[in-house]
Amino acid sequence: MRCEPALEVRVDVVVGRPAALLPRKDLTVGRKSDTMRPMCWRIVILALWWCSAVSAAEVPVVATIYPVADIVAQIGKDAVGVTTLLPAGASPHTFEPTPDQIRSLAQAALFVEIGAGLDTWAERIRAARSGSMKVVTLTTGLPLLGAAHVHAGEGEGGDPHVWLDPVIVRDHFVPAITAALSEIDPGHHALFQQNAAELRAALTQLDTDIRAALAAAANRNYVAFHTAWRYFGQRYGLHEVAVIEAFPGKEPSAREVAGVVEQARAAKVRVMLVEPQFSPRMAEQIAHEIGATTAVVDPLGNPQQPGRDHYIDLMRYNLQQFARALR
Ligand SMILES: [Zn+2]
Repeated sequence: MRCEPALEVRVDVVVGRPAALLPRKDLTVGRKSDTMRPMCWRIVILALWWCSAVSAAEVPVVATIYPVADIVAQIGKDAVGVTTLLPAGASPHTFEPTPDQIRSLAQAALFVEIGAGLDTWAERIRAARSGSMKVVTLTTGLPLLGAAHVHAGEGEGGDPHVWLDPVIVRDHFVPAITAALSEIDPGHHALFQQNAAELRAALTQLDTDIRAALAAAANRNYVAFHTAWRYFGQRYGLHEVAVIEAFPGKEPSAREVAGVVEQARAAKVRVMLVEPQFSPRMAEQIAHEIGATTAVVDPLGNPQQPGRDHYIDLMRYNLQQFARALR
């Protein structure tokens, strides 16, 4: 949202005298401050009016997870106002939206979700939507890896972690989001196209850099916290040997842990992946047992965290973590 700094002009119109002509002492605290109060209220009211008038021109978009919200923002820039449903630091596996979130976000013009069971909680928002809200489900039309996984309510759709493959983002997400924004706001079609072209070029560069950085990886096997990295691994020739939590948020049994240790030893795994959204305790124990290290990889990013606050930066951060661990 942008708020234009044009308040003084508008205050003058309402109060009926130019701010420049106000005696200086009117602005200090004292007896005369009582006479100032009505004008102060008008300033506040006009400030609110001005902000909402500007934001009304933006396409209101809701995305379920932050990486998708950032991709929408890169394509829409100032012409969109994007809200992320999943709070920073939370996992889509365990999140439940509040009734207030459902009510307020149902006003979006565009709703962008991953689908395939990742963000099933979004269905309650879609159910409450206004008639004009457009929905883009990013896994629609994509060939998905098998669903040996995972998220609550999943089972029918396949592995949903498609956003962790930058080539899928470039070739599938970007065109789908650009088309939806252009349909909702045809006046900004050329802007969306230009921003999308720049983003696609940046994603191509990212893909090239990942290939180059991982080309020398001596050991391509890893144990993941959960099955988030299969599309990334498929794209760049890495191999998920096992996962610690088949159902993220549900601790594995002693027998399952023993199975992970056995598989990891057999495949000479040297890195256990942990994620900021979950406790690293179990991965650290297993790593200690088999003489491996841990690496923090982040599937979701965080707008408050420099270096992981945009999709491309987030993937570069993850690349560094993989490259260091697989060296
Ligand atoms: Zn996941």
